[in-house]
Amino acid sequence: MRVVITGAAGFLGSHLCDRLHGDGAEVVAVDNLITGHLDNLARLAGDERFTFMHCNVSDYVHIPGPVDAVLHFASPASPQDYLEYPIQTLKVGARGTHNMLGVALAKGARFMLASTSEVYGDPLVSPQTEEYWGNVNPVGPRGVYDEAKRFAEAITMAYHRAHGLEVRVARIFNVYGPRLRVDGRVVSNFIHQALAGRPLTIFGDGSQTRSFCYVDDEVEGLTRLLWSDSTGPMNIGNPHEFTVRELADLVLEATGADVEIEHLELPTDDPKQRRPDITKAREILGWEPEVDLRDGLARTVAWYREELSSKGYVGGSGDPGQSP
Ligand code: UDP
Repeated sequence: MRVVITGAAGFLGSHLCDRLHGDGAEVVAVDNLITGHLDNLARLAGDERFTFMHCNVSDYVHIPGPVDAVLHFASPASPQDYLEYPIQTLKVGARGTHNMLGVALAKGARFMLASTSEVYGDPLVSPQTEEYWGNVNPVGPRGVYDEAKRFAEAITMAYHRAHGLEVRVARIFNVYGPRLRVDGRVVSNFIHQALAGRPLTIFGDGSQTRSFCYVDDEVEGLTRLLWSDSTGPMNIGNPHEFTVRELADLVLEATGADVEIEHLELPTDDPKQRRPDITKAREILGWEPEVDLRDGLARTVAWYREELSSKGYVGGSGDPGQSP
């Protein structure tokens, strides 16, 4: 089995590389490294079943040799990142997806798209089933990500219908765990702030909800979907919903930090609620998350502590900086 993973040096991409390599696959990892980091792939570097290609999949991309599966996970993935790279976000969702579909078609490989709960926008129904079409503001600042992923789903389904390409569309809800960059996302922000002894920044009053999936659970769900017969789209997320305020309390508990809460302005178009209906994944994949938020946060905090102390931050004199 030879698989190509784009966005391989990112958070989810790198965990997928580990998983599929561990399952015996030969992994071709592709990343342009604008938000990904090679540190995430350090464990695989030099392995005979692992190759890294530094390239931008929004440009022409040539993958030598046979390929059995293409997993398209490249994209800036946090609100902060896609505000910083709005054009790149649109391009990788549009041109990047088109290019990787072309690779899959040419190689006779199956194609998996990393789609997102953001296709539901600020949802008017909850929990969200795959049948819900969403409530997205196309011209708002988040629209660059939401609409790129909606286009990506549309072109993926068009390749399926027009060319008979085997495709899998995964709608991924908020994922956290080791290797999550401090990129503005709430779990990494809160943990980083708590460990640095700074106030936790809650945007708005903290009553907005999210459903957080531990990365090992997410990767298990994605792997099952990849090798299943189901085209999707399929929600792969944790159905337990928390307010941001509840998350802040759990982070304080997990870190043992005694810091203040600071309320900042809610970003434009920030969804008020988000919770996956995972009936489809349960029935078709026999999958559901196993790691609860308390346990997952404990594991994530342990990783951050190790990272930060190995870089001389926690207990040292340096500033924790942006990215552990
Ligand atoms: N959030 C927050 N404080 C932060 C970062 C994020 O209160 O320091 C909130 C944000 O407004 C949103 C939720 O946490 O309501 C999740 O934000 P994130 O950026 O992690 O992902 P999103 O689900 O919005 O894409």
